[in-house]
Amino acid sequence: MRKLIPFFLALVFNSALAQAQSLSQSLENARMKQQPASNAPRTAIKPVLVIHGGAGTILKKNMSPEKERAYMEALKAALEKGYSILKNGGSSLDAVEAAVNVMEDDPLFNAGKGAVFTHEGKNELDASIMNGRTLAAGAVAGVTTIRNPITAARAVMEKSSHVMMTGRGAEEFAKQQGLTIVDPSYFYTEDRWQGLQRVKKQDSMKTELDHGNKPTSGLRQPENRDSKYGTVGAVALDAQGNLAAATSTGGMTNKRFGRVGDSPIIGAGTYADNNTCAVSCTGWGEYFILLVMAKTVSDMMEFGHFSLEKATNEMVMKRLGALGGDGGLIAVDKDGHIAMPFNTEGMYRGYIDKDGKVTIKIYKD
Ligand code: ASP
Repeated sequence: MRKLIPFFLALVFNSALAQAQSLSQSLENARMKQQPASNAPRTAIKPVLVIHGGAGTILKKNMSPEKERAYMEALKAALEKGYSILKNGGSSLDAVEAAVNVMEDDPLFNAGKGAVFTHEGKNELDASIMNGRTLAAGAVAGVTTIRNPITAARAVMEKSSHVMMTGRGAEEFAKQQGLTIVDPSYFYTEDRWQGLQRVKKQDSMKTELDHGNKPTSGLRQPENRDSKYGTVGAVALDAQGNLAAATSTGGMTNKRFGRVGDSPIIGAGTYADNNTCAVSCTGWGEYFILLVMAKTVSDMMEFGHFSLEKATNEMVMKRLGALGGDGGLIAVDKDGHIAMPFNTEGMYRGYIDKDGKVTIKIYKD
């Protein structure tokens, strides 16, 4: 009997793997049927990469030259890492994951190391990734020990039959996949800790009267919130014409009760479809969820025949604000057009366009 145990374990493992592969495989097959091979000669596609490091109250007058330089350099490093993959014929998926990994490892951003703190003083991370070629997607939410949540999201997409995993289960899965697991203290940064103390102090100074704010959406607004969103994201078009999107975050400072924002929700914070565009969002997550932001942009292009610019402007500059929310997004369409609208003071953002030209910006133009 003892001898049979490893045999049974192997059987169970193999069947789990087969089941996992069948989801990606069936998505792949379905897409192949939808998109019959064309005999028309394809002109060479020039890759494009766009990234963001969060939107919010980012004002030049509050920024020291050193801090500004540090952000510019960090964004450049992420762009270069991702673009080097695209330039060598690599996939948009590899490029967005690599660019996001760089920002997750950089304490300047609210993702991976540098993530904001929850009300209880913990770091709970969310991330998602989507493959525009197959519509396969993966996400993790509320994880506390995975060094690079975006890599875990990709593992969920490629190595499991699920789309989203949360908390301890996601961590166990990441461990099984051989991803880097860290002690929760790895995510601590003094800056973010002080940010939590500030928000909590403002909270305690609020009077009963101040609590009457009524947002247009009916959402109860947090009395105080950090007005800077440092979530990171990347979208890319590769030389094969495939789109991908990725988003990773620590969420919002002082979040409570296992709150999950838009970033790990496919269709809200992240979406990619080769027929339309790839989108990654940043901002007040609750509103992005209500607007199903990323997928709505895609739908406006697919069914309403909007251009990328028109669809993203309509959603971010009109609908988001009308509902009482703020933030921005980055997007690239199947023809390599880029959009980066935001309705906040600034958004850390950058791109490398079809001609290989690097552009990095922080404030409103
Ligand atoms: N959208 C993120 C969230 O609500 C926050 C951010 O963009 O920084 O969790």
